[in-house]
Amino acid sequence: MKEFETLCRSKGLKITPQRLRVFKVLLESKDHPTAEEVYQQVRREMPSISLDTVNRTLNTLLQIGAAFLVEGTGQPKRYDGGLEDHQHFRCLQCGAVIDFNYEPYKSIEVPPHLKEQFTVLRKSVYFEGICKRCSESKEQLKEGRNPVCQ
Ligand SMILES: [Zn+2]
Ligand SMILES: [Zn+2]
Repeated sequence: MKEFETLCRSKGLKITPQRLRVFKVLLESKDHPTAEEVYQQVRREMPSISLDTVNRTLNTLLQIGAAFLVEGTGQPKRYDGGLEDHQHFRCLQCGAVIDFNYEPYKSIEVPPHLKEQFTVLRKSVYFEGICKRCSESKEQLKEGRNPVCQ
């Protein structure tokens, strides 16, 4: 939370109770919630807050780099709090997004020709596949039945 406050200040952003609360909910949820899920959590302590405010707050957090969108999940967007660099695995069957940490990925170089054209703010590594739980339940399916794959 201290880091978050420092970040807000360095970006000239006021630290409001809404921003603190939304950030805290993101930080504490491990399952990459949608805006709607964040809203449900925030509402428990701030019953008067609107989904619109939560959406706007999430956008602000994205802009200052205090939150990230989980890549590849399409709609609804899913958010990730925390300032720690990490990578994702997403299961195409159940949609679970699992965090992992692999040090070498953190030192991926931006190609020189990209550096000339763009200011890269964030690099991310993202894997897709089938999680253990889903592949185990697939094996239990009787032969001849086609497991639904997206
Ligand atoms: Zn799965
Ligand atoms: Zn994550």
